[in-house]
Amino acid sequence: MTKFSDLELNPKVLKAIADAGYETPTPIQAGAIPPALAGRDVLGIAQTGTGKTASFTLPMLSLLARGRARARMPRSLVLCPTRELAAQVAENFDTYSKYLKLSKALLIGGVSFKEQDTLIDKGVDVLIATPGRLLDHFERGKLILSDVKVMVVDEADRMLDMGFIPDIERIFGLTPFTRQTFFFSATMAPEIERITNTFLSNPARVEVARQATASETIAQSVAMVKSSRRDRADSEKRALLRKIIDDEGAACSNAIIFCNRKTDVDVVAKSLTKHGYDAAPIHGDLDQSQRTRTLDGFRAGDLRFLVASDVAARGLDVPAVSHVFNFDVPGHPEDYVHRIGRTGRAGRDGKAITLCNLRDEKALAAVEALIQKTIPRLDMPSDSAPPEPEPDQDSDAKPARSSRMRGKDKPAKGDTSETSQTGPKADAVKPASENPEKAKSRQNSRKTGGDARTMGMGDHLPSFIALSFDERRSD
Ligand code: AMP
Repeated sequence: MTKFSDLELNPKVLKAIADAGYETPTPIQAGAIPPALAGRDVLGIAQTGTGKTASFTLPMLSLLARGRARARMPRSLVLCPTRELAAQVAENFDTYSKYLKLSKALLIGGVSFKEQDTLIDKGVDVLIATPGRLLDHFERGKLILSDVKVMVVDEADRMLDMGFIPDIERIFGLTPFTRQTFFFSATMAPEIERITNTFLSNPARVEVARQATASETIAQSVAMVKSSRRDRADSEKRALLRKIIDDEGAACSNAIIFCNRKTDVDVVAKSLTKHGYDAAPIHGDLDQSQRTRTLDGFRAGDLRFLVASDVAARGLDVPAVSHVFNFDVPGHPEDYVHRIGRTGRAGRDGKAITLCNLRDEKALAAVEALIQKTIPRLDMPSDSAPPEPEPDQDSDAKPARSSRMRGKDKPAKGDTSETSQTGPKADAVKPASENPEKAKSRQNSRKTGGDARTMGMGDHLPSFIALSFDERRSD
């Protein structure tokens, strides 16, 4: 088995690794570090949890240990799809570079340009950024990328999901073609393949086993949600979630509750808080300081329930949680595996409970097809009678139906995991039998991606209301 000391890393980096308590390199580290130190490009096919961050951070630090950065000209660049991931990579750099005198800057949205400008002006060895914020700095003339010697693209498949690929291509074009590139992706979609063929030069390809199935230590179950009335479906679902949490009792020490949509993240967090549960939301529309505070609180064990969207939670290195609750079945089945992988880590037991209503049954079938097993159904007393919500329950938790709110309801750019329920939701109101006119109207609505929950319009839904999310999406 390879040891860190076999890897020819800088001795000061090795010392920091020993301090971190790592004994042996993970497979992605053992595979990626030697070619990276030899100056080759690396294509790493690995996902979060494999130790991939250190697999590029450690060789980068060793390569950068000699030399100094010039003003406004960073010597290396790490691109991450989300602010949280960028912040996490920055923390990794701090850990492993503690015995080196290297400077770094983190360029993410939600932080003032002025602070970031000051750092860049001084000259940084490592620049960690989200693509949009990096290009903003570049366009303001504050950043010169012609001295970048190493460039990393992390979580490229998520970049693709979020519509960042054109930005990435542009950034590649702004750096010297002599740079060394480390490129990481959990999957190799054709578009990702194209980018790597264009911008990587004879890369060492290092692939670690894809997590196709969830850990055996995770007990999975599904609670089928049957609402008594359509107008109560949402509040009954929240009541069911509380009941499930209560049934888990003290065994549920902390949990991540995943929702497909950002508005639901807010509503569920607010509703839980209102009912006396210690919960806070995290998603892309919240300001950075709030997101950081919430995550820190959750990591420190001060917050019991983190209500999250897939994108905000993706790749976050959160210590093991006792439970994962899926408030909705994710629209992308792979997200189910990622979500529940937050529990049952390092051989510990974990529980993953998914709420599924009629309109999510197709999505559930897709999840079961991916993991190749049927998830046991929870025997909920609610099968006969769903938990009765309080009369005014969650009235203050519902988002205002203003046009501004509807705008917020929109998924982030290309943020498919938060839009993917449009299809299944459109099936939600299909009655057992219906007249042909109604069926036609419903089909039209579905064709255009229209939200079949639109009520009060009779059968003649004005076409502008039936526009699909894609057509309405502007950012
Ligand atoms: P990542 O896949 O980069 O998000 O890393 C997942 C977790 O593994 C992080 O908490 C790292 O601190 C940890 N880790 C990375 N490399 C090692 C290693 N060689 N030995 C033990 N833990 C590691």
